[in-house]
Amino acid sequence: AYWPSDSGGIFVNDLSVKYAPNLPPALRNLTFSIKPSEKLGVVGRTGSGKSTLALSLLRTIEPAGGRITIDGLDISTIGLEDLRTRITIVSQDVAIFNGTLRSNLDPMEEHSQEECLEAIRRCHLTSVASQKEKDEEALLCMSVSQGSLSGGEAQLVSLARAILRGTNIIILDEASSQMDAGLDEQIQKTVREELSGAIVITIAHKLKTIIDYDRILVLDNGEIMELGTPKEL
Ligand code: ATP
Ligand code: MG
Repeated sequence: AYWPSDSGGIFVNDLSVKYAPNLPPALRNLTFSIKPSEKLGVVGRTGSGKSTLALSLLRTIEPAGGRITIDGLDISTIGLEDLRTRITIVSQDVAIFNGTLRSNLDPMEEHSQEECLEAIRRCHLTSVASQKEKDEEALLCMSVSQGSLSGGEAQLVSLARAILRGTNIIILDEASSQMDAGLDEQIQKTVREELSGAIVITIAHKLKTIIDYDRILVLDNGEIMELGTPKEL
């Protein structure tokens, strides 16, 4: 069966993370769960541990204590490569390989041209990049490399990858620097319209971005300060 299934949640149990033995923990004894298809916003001041939480879900950093379970499996038992194809992270510094836009979306050539086109339409990449290539098919053949796309376009490419793969868990780590408001809206529109069945964890810098989310996690100095619906907070 496909893991994680769309009925699988995430359970973070007593998670502590340290970047080095002599540094204070970046996350301290975090315990909470995320329900299937839940939209969770994560906020907190700079250095509060938001990106560390995202990196922990991908095992870019291993816990100093505690564990994360996704759809019933402790992620420390899952191969890194496997884990990272099943969770998509959308961030400004997402890797873009030298090649065409299509090879970036579908490196293993597992999808048809039509599926690739559908994915770039659904994440509105077509309207963003339309200044570069008028025709959608030409857009897929467009050569790209690290630096040839803006940070925002690169984020839309990773969102299109998630849609194409049917990833059930998507993490959006918004840049703390000023994010283009139009792009922010486009990404959130895609989350609402195209990712309703998936768990979406959005690290946001503006409350407005995540105001319609199911719950909001407020981190402070590596600890949970609050966790509740936007109304409760
Ligand atoms: P921002 O809003 O600025 O992105 P954040 O909430 O994402 O902040 P984190 O990046 O998770 O914060 O950082 C949490 C803590 O861990 C901070 O004290 C930070 O200095 C520290 N930290 C982050 N990355 C590293 C690293 N690679 N090595 C050492 N310490 C780190
Ligand atoms: Mg961060």
